[in-house]
Amino acid sequence: MRIAVLHFSHETVTFLANDTTLADFTYPGSPAKGDDVLAMQPRDYIGGFVQVAREYPDVELVGIESPGFPVTGTGSGWVSEAAFETFVGRMIAELTSGGPWDGAYLAVHGAMAVRGVARPEAELARRVRAAVGPKAIIAGTFDPHGNEDEQFLTHADMAFTVKYFPHYDGHLQGQRAARQMVRAIRGTYTPATVTVKVPIISPTVLQWTGAAPWSELIQRALTWEAREPDAYVNVFFGFPWSDVPDVGMCIQAMTNGDPALAQRIADDMAGFAWRRRAALLGSTTVHHIKAGVALARAAQAAGEVPIVLADHSDRSGYATWLLAEIMAQDLANTLLATVADQALVARLLVEGAKAGDAFDELVGGLVDESAGPAVRVVGKIHSVSAGASRSGGQSWVNVSFGRGNVLCISPYLVQVIELDHLRQFGFDPADFACFAIKSRVHFRRGFDDNGFARTILLVEPPEAFLGTTRLDGLAYENVDLTGFYPYGEVRFP
Ligand SMILES: [Zn+2]
Repeated sequence: MRIAVLHFSHETVTFLANDTTLADFTYPGSPAKGDDVLAMQPRDYIGGFVQVAREYPDVELVGIESPGFPVTGTGSGWVSEAAFETFVGRMIAELTSGGPWDGAYLAVHGAMAVRGVARPEAELARRVRAAVGPKAIIAGTFDPHGNEDEQFLTHADMAFTVKYFPHYDGHLQGQRAARQMVRAIRGTYTPATVTVKVPIISPTVLQWTGAAPWSELIQRALTWEAREPDAYVNVFFGFPWSDVPDVGMCIQAMTNGDPALAQRIADDMAGFAWRRRAALLGSTTVHHIKAGVALARAAQAAGEVPIVLADHSDRSGYATWLLAEIMAQDLANTLLATVADQALVARLLVEGAKAGDAFDELVGGLVDESAGPAVRVVGKIHSVSAGASRSGGQSWVNVSFGRGNVLCISPYLVQVIELDHLRQFGFDPADFACFAIKSRVHFRRGFDDNGFARTILLVEPPEAFLGTTRLDGLAYENVDLTGFYPYGEVRFP
């Protein structure tokens, strides 16, 4: 059995001004080729797929040249047509010349948005199908933030989506994809899939699966998988910051040759989500930034530390609202990681900035209205540190200010998820009472689900900026919000 392994993944915020370009996908290690593709994600989707596929002595895996996640992380807009066509063109050429294939595994995200391509993952599957032929089995793994409809599965045979947010089960879904793909190639599994769109659109900060009713929605999917052998259930929460026609929640169910059962499962899941729609959107408290910082001060005074103060809404990384309010309220002992300012970091590095230097600069802001104004910070350089991001290394310039605070300035948006991420950049978490970060839910992996933080405060500016819970403030062109709960009078099913 010869199986091709491909990766092409981005979570695109189409409302950001900076396109995601070919150059953003090109850095040491990306694109990867051959066995380097198979080694791209040892603890995630591809790692799980490769681990299980290699348990079968008759399986040969071939890594097809693939880009990693762009250097901008999730802080960039529309993927350029040139980036998409370049990488997909090379993939198809390699598949065409390297065949025949029994299977192709596509490690994708689902919320990539490409200029001129309405459904990029489905388009990738369509072209891969044309290259590998009608008999080969095509399987995809997805992030639950994917915006998907039935199109992907018209070209591909199977899809496996992470269930948890934070995304704990990428490796597991990769394993499942490998096992079912091998069975399908051998003819002992015949995928019957059903896709049902659920007209619910929600900001990602509300989609934490650690609490009800999101946990109940996922538990229901797990129950179906447990009670029906060979059934698989995908719950796409959707990603509202992509202005794409297949935005919003989506359920997929797959069975072994039983389309009626797949339909019953998908309808049940969709019906459950719809009945609980009000609770799904009301499960998380989000404070305005001013109130959130005041609550953080009160929590410090009460000894309810460590505190996470998360501006979930910052989609560019440059937002200064939280920094400005921390200064205004003189919050103490806070590590603010990070405010992005690529030009400032570059200049400070060229100037040879070092610990102890005086610092008086305008920081961040300005990339769009959601980022706010640049903020003047006066203090001392605490350190210049380097660590790994999701797509290679980056350097931070860290500035001491106020009463025991440190501001980390990074070249790109950084979503701090684990305490180890801070340690990599030279910080001891024990030195701080409060962690002011830019994350919605993923931080719970390292700050909440492990029992670290005593107080968790999610904040956003009061204006209906990009990234806030106010989706009605977005200038959608490809989405009619009134077709979705809670923005219209929607009948479902
Ligand atoms: Zn996600």
